[in-house]
Order: sequence, then C-alpha cells, then structure tokens
Amino acid sequence: MIAWCLLAAALAASPEPPDAGGTPPDAGTATAAPAGPTLRLQPGTAKPGDPVLVMVEGAAALPSGKLAGRALHFYRYRERTPERSIDRYEAISALPVEHALGTFPVVVKIPAGRGAPRREIEASIDVVDANYPKRELQVDRKFISPPPEEKERIAQDQEAFKRAWQTTFGPRLFHGDFEWPRHSVITAPFGDLRMFNGKKKSQHFGTDLDGSAGEPIQAANDGVVVLVRECFASGNTVIVNHGGGLLTAYFHMSKFLVEEGKQVKKGEIIGLVGKTGRVTGPHLHWSIHADGLYVDAQTLMRLDFGA
Ligand SMILES: [Zn+2]
Repeated sequence: MIAWCLLAAALAASPEPPDAGGTPPDAGTATAAPAGPTLRLQPGTAKPGDPVLVMVEGAAALPSGKLAGRALHFYRYRERTPERSIDRYEAISALPVEHALGTFPVVVKIPAGRGAPRREIEASIDVVDANYPKRELQVDRKFISPPPEEKERIAQDQEAFKRAWQTTFGPRLFHGDFEWPRHSVITAPFGDLRMFNGKKKSQHFGTDLDGSAGEPIQAANDGVVVLVRECFASGNTVIVNHGGGLLTAYFHMSKFLVEEGKQVKKGEIIGLVGKTGRVTGPHLHWSIHADGLYVDAQTLMRLDFGA
C-alpha cells in the first residue's frame, strides 16, 4: 500500500521569488583564472528545487557571492585524515521550485588576503525543467480543511518549524556524503504537484520512503537535533541541523529516540517509522531544507561533499 503525506501548504516554506540577476556570462558551469582560486558547482545542470553545492579552493579569505541572484553563504571547511586533506570554502545554495529555466550567472568575490589580491570568479548554472508529476488524489474533506479547534496547534507547529529552520548559520557539522535515512522504496518523490478532489493544489516538499511501523530511521549525516515535536500535520517530527544552512526533517514517527540538543552521528537511529499526523499509512516523509528552501533529497544524495 502506498502511504501518502497529506501535507498541503501547512508546513510549506514561503519560497523566495526567483531573481534571475543580470545577463548570464558565457556558458560553462565553472571557470577560474589560471593559477588562481577555483570554483566548482554541483550539480552543473540543476532543476528548480535542487540544492547546489558551491566549492571554492585556493581562496585567501572568506568569499561572498550570488548564484542565480541568491546570496551565497560561505563557510570554511577543513578536514585532515590519512586519506585526504581538505581546506576550502563552501556554500550550500538552493533553487526555488518555481525558478525560471535557462542559464543564470554565478559570481564569487574573494577579498584580498594572505598576500593574494582581490579576485572575482564568474561562472553560470543551467536550470532545466524538473517535470514534476501531477497527481490527482481523492481524500476525506477533514484532511483538506483542518478542524477549527486545531488552528491554534497548527499555528504553534508552524512557529516551531520556523524557529528550527532559522537556526543560526554556522560551518558544516557533517563529514562526507549524505545517506538515506531508510534504504527503501521511494513511494512519492519531491515536487509532486497534487490536486485534491479536483481543486486544491499543493506540492510535495519531501520524499516519501516506504516502511512499516517500528522500523528504524537513521540520521542522514552528523548534526544537532533542533526540534522534537508532536505536530498536527507532520506527526512526530525530528529536525536535525547539519550546519552550512542545511537541515533534514523526519515526519510521522511512531517513536522518538533523540532529544532536542543531542548531537547525532550519520547512521544513528533517531526514531521509528510510524503514521502519526496527516497520513494514510506508515512511511517516512523526509524533507531537506537548504538555504531557507525545501529541496530535492535525491539531488542532495548525488552531491559529493568529500570531493
Ligand atoms: Zn510526504
């Protein structure tokens, strides 16, 4: 059985309007002046609703910049292991789901420092159609219009989510790539456009992973738990802050196995699959929040953070 999340607009962030910025520079996903700092973008070709990882190596100081008109928030990332030595600047950006298609500029400015002059790197990113599927759902009216007596609770849930998403920006707390919180079938991808009973439209801002009640849910990467809450729509919910403006949210749990403030490691069991909240059956709804926007988990999983 396919279990659906019936989260309509209730927990959706208000996406920022797209801002194309100025005239796109020459094509190419990453360029750099010879012997100067280098810029890399992942993915090179993106779709609306994607996270975009920006890596700058060889910079003498903390860069600033813009990607498709959105400000980049850089942090320094250093990692020394027997296998590799990394010292670079990174920013995790995002494209709103309603972003226009085309080629958009990426500009990174590096201030002078450590004897190196001020530098500016220009590149571009291609944004292609996501082709998010449209689905028609027939559901009970009570799921579409929440009962009036729950209004206060829903408003409090929204406030709690907002506080979690606005967790103070800091360097990344995780190591290496992200891992799926469950190794199971995706029953509903990110971005599904949903028509309820032929009228009310919403978009699915998470990825549904199949599961039976009581099965384990793992932290997708290292981080700090910033929310543990019983919510009306998302049910028992955990949000983990991974730093760098990237957070992951786990909905509909039957049981919490962490508390707010706890540091978690990648793979650590943080709760159990359930069907709490507005759902038709047990599953894990997994949401990714990057740079203030919901983004596609499947793209996050393809980003190479260790490269
Ligand atoms: Zn869902």
